Amino acid sequence: MLTPWDTELTSQFTRLKDLKVDFSKKDEVNRLIEVPEWASMTLGNLPTAASTQNLTDWLKEIGAAETQKALVENRVILIFPGSVWATKRWTAEGFLHLATELQRENFHIVWMGGSGEEALARELANRLPGSFVLAGKTSVLRSCQLMLQSRLVVCNDSAASHMAAAMNTPVLSIFGPTILKYGYRPWSSKAFIVERSGLDCRPCGKHGGPKCPIKTHACMSHISAQEVVRQARLILSL
Ligand code: SF4
Repeated sequence: MLTPWDTELTSQFTRLKDLKVDFSKKDEVNRLIEVPEWASMTLGNLPTAASTQNLTDWLKEIGAAETQKALVENRVILIFPGSVWATKRWTAEGFLHLATELQRENFHIVWMGGSGEEALARELANRLPGSFVLAGKTSVLRSCQLMLQSRLVVCNDSAASHMAAAMNTPVLSIFGPTILKYGYRPWSSKAFIVERSGLDCRPCGKHGGPKCPIKTHACMSHISAQEVVRQARLILSL
C-alpha cells in the first residue's frame, strides 16, 4: 500500500524475500521471530523530552491526572478493542475480562480507538470503574506518544499493532480471520500473537469482513479470555 510513496520499499521487500525467513514463526512465548533492524518498522530516537512534556500538558488539560501518574509509574496498558472490520474484533467480554484481571494487578487501563469506536470504549469503561477512555480523543501522533510510555498495547490485527511496532512498545495482537502469512504482522521484535489455529475456514479474507460467512465467528469467539490474560501476564513478566 505504501510503495507509491516510498520507491525504496519494493527493493526492500525483495531483499526481505531473499532472506528466505518465515517471519510468521513464533517462539515458545508466542513472540514473533525477530526482524532485521533495516526491516523493522520501529522508529529511532524516541521519545524526545519535548514530546513527553507535550503529552503531560495535554493529559493535564483533559483531566487525566491518574493516567499521567500511571504513565510515570510505568503501569499503563492501552487496549484497542475495535477494528474497522467486525470480524477482526475479539469479543468485548474478552477484552473486559482481560482489563479486569490486569487492573487487579495494579495496571491502569486506558481504552483506546479511533473515530467511531468511542461507544464500545465507553461501554467497556462503564463496566470497569477506574479505567479511562481516550478513544476518539487522540490523533495518530498522540496515540504514538502514549504508546511510547506505555507498558503494553493489546489490540486486534489493526492499525494499532503497527503503531505500537513503530514505537517499539510490546504489543499483543489478537488475530481472527486474517493470518500472519499475509505479512500483516507488527514488524517489530516485541510483537506477540494470539490466534486460533486449526480452523478450515481461516483465513476467509485478506482484510477481514463485516460478517462471518459461516456465522460462527469461531476464529475470535474460540480465543478464551484466560488464554489472552495468560499471554499478557507472560509479556509483562519478560
Ligand atoms: S469464516 Fe472462519 S475465519 Fe472467517 S470470520 Fe468466520 S470463523 Fe473467522
